[in-house]
Amino acid sequence: MNRRRFLQNTAAFSALTAVEFTPWQTISAIAREVEDFVRGPAVKDHPLQQLSKHVWMIYSPDGFPSPENQGMMCNITIVDTAKGLVVVDSGASVQIGEMTIRQIKKKFKKPVIAIINTHYHGDHWLGNHAFVEAYGKDLPLYSHAGTIKEVEGVQGNLWRKLMEQWTNQATLGTQVIPPKLPLEDGAELKFGDVTLRLHHHGIVHTPYDLNVEVLEDRVMLIGDVAMDRRIANMDDGSYVGTLKSYERLEKTGSKLWLPGHGKPSADVLQWNRELFQGIYYTCEKAIKDGLALEEAKALVLKDTRVASRAKDTKGFDINIGKYVSLAFLEAEAAGF
Ligand SMILES: [Zn+2]
Repeated sequence: MNRRRFLQNTAAFSALTAVEFTPWQTISAIAREVEDFVRGPAVKDHPLQQLSKHVWMIYSPDGFPSPENQGMMCNITIVDTAKGLVVVDSGASVQIGEMTIRQIKKKFKKPVIAIINTHYHGDHWLGNHAFVEAYGKDLPLYSHAGTIKEVEGVQGNLWRKLMEQWTNQATLGTQVIPPKLPLEDGAELKFGDVTLRLHHHGIVHTPYDLNVEVLEDRVMLIGDVAMDRRIANMDDGSYVGTLKSYERLEKTGSKLWLPGHGKPSADVLQWNRELFQGIYYTCEKAIKDGLALEEAKALVLKDTRVASRAKDTKGFDINIGKYVSLAFLEAEAAGF
C-alpha cells in the first residue's frame, strides 16, 4: 500500500467515525493495512553456505547498514545439531530474521531450538523477533548477563531506532526481544552430537562479548571480537583487551574463525591483530615520545600494518580517525 492510499484510508476511517458507523470488518481491515504500512518490506534471499560438518552461515556482503541492503550487514550462523538448529546472531531486523527462517526451511526439516546473541549491538540480535514469532515465546535466547541488561535497557530501543534511520525505515516493525538466559565464560551447551563452549574475556569489542566454540568442528564463532576487512566499532571496546583475548582464543586450537562481518577463514585473528597492533602500539609509542593526538594519527596512517589494510577495509576512511583517538585515550589511561 502506498502512502496516498494509506492517507485515503485514514480519511475514510475518520469519515466513518464521524457518522458513527464503523462496522468491525472495516476497522480491522484498516488496522491490517496500517500494520502493513508501518512494517518494512521483506529482505531478499541470501543463500545458506556450509562451512563445516555442523556449521552453516548466511553471509552478509555489506559491512554497514543502508536503505539498499535494509540492514543486512551481519553474518548469521546456524549450527545443525541432532536436537535442532541453533542460531548465533539473528540479524538486524525482523525482516532479516524472517529471510533466515525461509532459507532454513528450504534446507532443514528441523526447528530452531535456541538463539545465542554474541553482544548487544543491534545487528546481532534485532532479528530475535522473527524467531520468537515463528518458534514460540519460550524459545531459549542466550547471551552474556551484561548483554541481556543492556538490551533490556538503553541499547535495545537505541539500536532499533538507529537501524530504522540507517535503512530509511526498511526495518520498521521490528520489536526489541532481549535475550533472557545468561551464559558465562566456560559454560557449555550440549545439543545431542554438538557441544557449544562459551568464551568471555572481559572488555574486548564490548564488555560482554561471547565467543561460541563448536567443539566437534573446531570452529569458533567470534562475533565482532575480530573482523575481516572491516574496521570494528571500538566505542565500547578495548584494544589491549582484544589483543589479550586473541591469545586465549588461539589456545583453543580452533581451525576456522567465523566473524560477524567479513569472510570466515583461518586468518581472521591475525588480520585483525596486525591492524590493531598498528593502531594501538603506534599510539602507545607516540605518547611515550610526548607527541600529540594529531601527530599520533599521522604515524598510525603511515604504519605498514595499517596502511597495507586501508584500501580493502570497509569503513576505513570514515572511522580510522575516531578509532585512533580511542586507542590514544586507552594508551594514555594505561599510563604510558
Ligand atoms: Zn558489534
